[in-house]
Formats: sequence, structure tokens, C-alpha cells
Amino acid sequence: MTLQYIHNELTLHGHRLSDIARTSGTPLFVYDETMIRNQCRRFHRALQESELNYTISYASKAFSSVQLFNLMAEENTGLDVVSEGELFTALQSTVAENRIHFHGNNKTDREIKYAVESGVDYFVIDSLDEIDRLDALADRTVKAVLRINPGVEAHTHEFIQTGQENSKFGLSVKKGLALEGIKKIQQAAHIDFMGVHFHIGSQIFESTGTIATIDLVIDWLADNDIAISVLNIGGGFSIKYTDDDVSYPIEDGIKAITDALKKACERNHYSVPEISLEPGRSIVGEAGITLYEVGTVKDIPDVNYYVSIDGGMSDHIRTALYDAQYELKLVNREEPHDKLMTVAGKLCESGDIIRRDIKLPASIRTGDYLAVLSTGAYHYSMSSNYNQMLKPAVVFVTAAGAREVIRRQSLEQLIQNDVVH
Ligand SMILES: *Cc1c(COP(=O)(O)O)cnc(C)c1O
Repeated sequence: MTLQYIHNELTLHGHRLSDIARTSGTPLFVYDETMIRNQCRRFHRALQESELNYTISYASKAFSSVQLFNLMAEENTGLDVVSEGELFTALQSTVAENRIHFHGNNKTDREIKYAVESGVDYFVIDSLDEIDRLDALADRTVKAVLRINPGVEAHTHEFIQTGQENSKFGLSVKKGLALEGIKKIQQAAHIDFMGVHFHIGSQIFESTGTIATIDLVIDWLADNDIAISVLNIGGGFSIKYTDDDVSYPIEDGIKAITDALKKACERNHYSVPEISLEPGRSIVGEAGITLYEVGTVKDIPDVNYYVSIDGGMSDHIRTALYDAQYELKLVNREEPHDKLMTVAGKLCESGDIIRRDIKLPASIRTGDYLAVLSTGAYHYSMSSNYNQMLKPAVVFVTAAGAREVIRRQSLEQLIQNDVVH
């Protein structure tokens, strides 16, 4: 996202963020719509270069909104959903039903029926008993891929070849469960076996773990004489939160992955399947920021300097959850970052922190606006009503201006499901 100070004000596509904050109120999620589209296009271009058959589905858990999904449809990108709520939201958009994949390690019968009725493209089956349930609940033949656990875990800085057997997701290759699952699906009356799916981690910044997994999976399928038409390699492509992170090199990474797939198939005399990707964070993460208004400033001599903002863990949980790190910028003027401080939320938890020990301008005071960068994924979608906080509004910005795509929750909505006797 190209944030720029123009005339001493932080801007996006030439629009002053302080104006947008004043119009829509804070806390506020602001997305660069152009960047979201561009990220989709980069994945598409990289896959087109490979000349393989491919599909891309956006992992909607990263950030769900009907307008965003409409944009995905325009960018020829499908959707992954894991719950009836995500499926419902997806069905309100212009994404075609047959571009939706239904995921989840514990789909309820109701969800399975809903997804069958809706005509989703395929199910990502995650357990042996789900095969029986799907087969029984489907009143016609449905397509499915099996989520396998290849026993490879990708971390930000390494991947472990034997890690992750202990996972609630997928069926273990090494323990023979994956093969059992495939045979069971092939025998099911109402399920078409399409292929396999794996997802080895998040914030993966290089291709080596994915390539090792592709090698392992294609060798294993070929050894067991199992043909597939789809290989779904999941998502997990990294984004830059701070200068310590790198954004996944989409062009080079996809080239390395698709080359590795072609080679693994060639080596095994195995026909090359369609490749599917499920990026979430890498589509929307860096394209989103959160705007807050500064309230209290508290100086505890020799201890800490707290700047509190008008949101917190209700719209920003990742610092409390993972000690995640973020960059911040003062919105309504540009000044040197010269004072060490902690930016805190307003909720009743000591852990409600946006960022500890960050240098920001010493002049920050009540009424200023702060921007927290790279909050486009897993922020709004993880937001809550803790302390009866209202879920913020969301705006999309292009060169043409800012448009609201989700309104701020209202006080009435907070209690609309309360029943008083
Ligand atoms: C979470 C998830 C994704 C998306 O992960 P990102 O890190 O947001 O890209 C894709 N596929 C599956 C199965 C997931 O669980």
C-alpha cells in the first residue's frame, strides 16, 4: 500500500486519511482496493506463466465482506469457506457457487446439507467419519478433495519434515490414514474423488517447505497408484508487518513451486494435476490499515509512556494472541519517531496492547489519529464485542475516493438478540 505524507498529512491514493477518519469515525479499517486487486492479479499472472491448469480461491476467514467477495469475482478468484456463516456471506456475493470450496475439520450435518444444496464446487474432507456423513447426506454426486497431513510443518524460519503429526487437521500420510481416506472416498456412492489438499502453515516466506511437501505427496500418490485431478497446496504466503518480515515473493515463489510440481510428476511418470492455491493474508493483509483516535496519554516516570487509542483487542487481537508486531504512523502530521512508548487499547485487560516499545513522535496527544499498518487480514474477521465495543466500519479506497463497505455496528445491534423476561 502506498501511504504518503502530502502537505504533512498521511494519504492513500491522494486522499487524506484524517478526512476519511472524520467522515467514517474511528476505529476504522481502511483498505487499498487497488492493492487487493493487484495481489490477485500477481497470483494469476504467476500461475498463468506456469501454463498449468490452476484455480485460486481466497481464504475468506482472513476478511469476509460481500463487497470484497464481489471484487474477488471480478478478479476471477473463488472462495474458501469453513462455516455456514462464511458460506451464507459468500452466497450473497457475485462469486459463483461452483467457485466455492467448503472446508473445516468438523462440518456439522446442517452445514454439509447447506453446502450440497448450494452447489459448492467441492468439499475438502477432513476426517474418515465425514466421508460417511457426506455420502449419506448428499442426494447427488458431489466432488471432494481430501485434506492430508503430510507431516511437514512450515515455520517462518524453517520447516520440519516430521513435525505436526499431532494436528486436528487432515489425515496423516505417515500413519496410513490418508490412504485409507482416499480409498473410502473412492468407494463412496455419492462422492467424486478429485484430489488432495494440504496447508502446511502461515507466514511462509519461501518455497522450500512447500516444494518438499509436493515432492513427498506426488511420490506417495504415484507409489500407491492414486490418480488425482486437483492438488490443492493451501495458503500461508507471508506478508510484511514490520521491517523484520518479508512479503512472500509471489512471482519467484509460484514459479519455483510449479516447476517443482512438474518435475515431481515427470520423475514419477505421473500426470500433472490442476494446482489450487488458497491465499488469504497475502491478498488483503498489507492492503489494510486501522485508524484510531488518540485519547489518554499517561507518563509513568522511568517506567513507561502509554498512549491509549479508541479501540483495542476487540478489533486488534493479534498482539494479545501472538505478541504480533506492527508499524504505526501518525496520520495528521509527519514528525520524527523520537520517543519510546506503548500504544494501548481501551479495554479492560492489561494484555490489551496494540504495540509495546515503539518509537513514535513525542508530540502525540489527544485527538491525533494513529494508523496501524498491515491489519487487513485477521483483524476485522477476528473482531468481537468484548466490553460491548461496536465492530468498526470498513472503507475501500481507490484513486476515485473512499467507499464504505461495512457500516459501523450500532448500539441497537448490540442488544438485538437479548431476550428479557
Ligand atoms: C488459514 C488457511 C488458509 C489461508 O491462510 P493465509 O495464511 O491467510 O494465507 C488457506 N487454507 C487453509 C486450509 C487455511 O486453514
